[in-house]
Amino acid sequence: MEECLFCKIVAGQIPAEKVYEDSDVIAFLDINPRNPGHTLVIPKKHFSDLLEMDDEYAMKLFVAVKRIAKAIKDGIKADGISISQSNGRAAGQVVNHMHVHVIPRFFNEGPVGLESILPTKKIDQGSMKNISNILKEAISKVSEVSKPASEKKEMEFEF
Ligand code: AMP
Ligand code: ZN
Repeated sequence: MEECLFCKIVAGQIPAEKVYEDSDVIAFLDINPRNPGHTLVIPKKHFSDLLEMDDEYAMKLFVAVKRIAKAIKDGIKADGISISQSNGRAAGQVVNHMHVHVIPRFFNEGPVGLESILPTKKIDQGSMKNISNILKEAISKVSEVSKPASEKKEMEFEF
């Protein structure tokens, strides 16, 4: 991914304040932090978002996220940690290389939790049942999608 900003950071072509690195993952400070210590955790391999990742890589990434979250909580002495990850423009994703925001949080600093993303909506019982059925059907089809691209059979799943 030649033009990808975060691939360039992985390759060392763009500087970043790196705080963690292993064979698959790096983490660096967000250039526009929401709080001091706001860190981005990314796979070294280019995936546009979480939905593109195979399970094995996603597991490695999220184990790193967990460790970094703990380190930030201890190191920054945060009261809490928000984990945020956006998939697609509609969700607010700007950089199209999978990344997880790990953000230290403090008491009394503004909107928190899901309410800071979207207000709740009233959805009637019938619609909830309908949505549940759609999701159950969709979930039954996605188990194989998690394999690395090299192991995936071509077009096994269609959405
Ligand atoms: P998102 O809106 O989830 O795609 O978030 C992208 C994040 O990347 C934003 O919080 C930016 O501040 C951050 N960002 C963009 N360029 C850089 C950079 N060169 N170094 C560190 N963080 C960056
Ligand atoms: Zn990339």
